[in-house]
Amino acid sequence: MKFRNFLRVQQDECLSSWVYRCSQSKKGQKFKILSDAYIDSDPDFDLVAPFFTPDIASLGLDVALFQRCFQARSEWVLPWAERVVYCPACFHEDIAAGWLPYWRKGWCYLHAPICIKHRRLLAVAEHYNPFVDKAWIAFAEDCVSPHDPDTRCRLPWRHPPVSKEVVYLAAKAQRFLHAAHVYATVRLIDGVTLSSAEVLKVSRFLLEYFLFPRLRPPKGDGVARGMQHSVGRIGERMTREQAKAVGCSDSDVFSRMTALILVGCVFGIVSAALFQSVARSLALTIYLERGGAYEIGCHGFTFLTMKEHREAVQFFENLSDVMKSRLSCFMRGLKDYRYKMGSY
Ligand SMILES: [Zn+2]
Repeated sequence: MKFRNFLRVQQDECLSSWVYRCSQSKKGQKFKILSDAYIDSDPDFDLVAPFFTPDIASLGLDVALFQRCFQARSEWVLPWAERVVYCPACFHEDIAAGWLPYWRKGWCYLHAPICIKHRRLLAVAEHYNPFVDKAWIAFAEDCVSPHDPDTRCRLPWRHPPVSKEVVYLAAKAQRFLHAAHVYATVRLIDGVTLSSAEVLKVSRFLLEYFLFPRLRPPKGDGVARGMQHSVGRIGERMTREQAKAVGCSDSDVFSRMTALILVGCVFGIVSAALFQSVARSLALTIYLERGGAYEIGCHGFTFLTMKEHREAVQFFENLSDVMKSRLSCFMRGLKDYRYKMGSY
């Protein structure tokens, strides 16, 4: 995409990244008028803020075209402060091509912890500063000391090395969810076609439970956070719904990757055999290590009350017949879930 008198927008580039690159060019000085108000809002995706459109129009840019170009392709956008994961290999390619490194929208989504192009788990920028270009900071960090797989999870911890097989399976699920965000339906390799709206509804439900944050006192910890076992717990008091949102707002790449593989297994995108081959390296429970979709339904959740379990079963019962057929193994497991009194 090219706007007259401004730098070309790179493939999938975030607005803040493009604004920064433009501000470094002669003509881009005009962008200084955006800077102050702009930093109080979402600098990437808040494209309808009252301050925003008049400024864009005053620069002679087509507002509608501008919004189309920079809009998010998913509602599952991580909060601005958590949008710190990136692919060093992509940055090195940018530099080799003679560009400033730029930030991709594709790194900003909950369901996207993998660089599909380079088949690797994204890295985490350590020294985040909202007033300086993230891409340059991250690139400089990576040049000084190549990526250290610490995460910016609210509870700092270090995740173990990730095998190619694990990345491959998570990438399969990531592509599946990406397709559900872009197209109205998703056609699976075995010929089944699913409604994207339903795929996203189910996936969001699963992600909220699998990524549930570690709270104090312990209640409802998500199964995808098994690798954080020894880490202290978040102390804030919050409602169940608030905690679900917090769990899905955390950029931590390892737990998101784990959750994606679980989602892939529930939908049959990842076979039970492949799931079992990597389950141990993800620190899932022993019940899940030997299982598949049924076991995920049966052991992949922690419901706080019997009522919550009943509501979860009802949630799946209300889906279309096609979807229920697709999820039948998982749903049988969910019905067989036993309320684990005293475990939280
Ligand atoms: Zn990459």
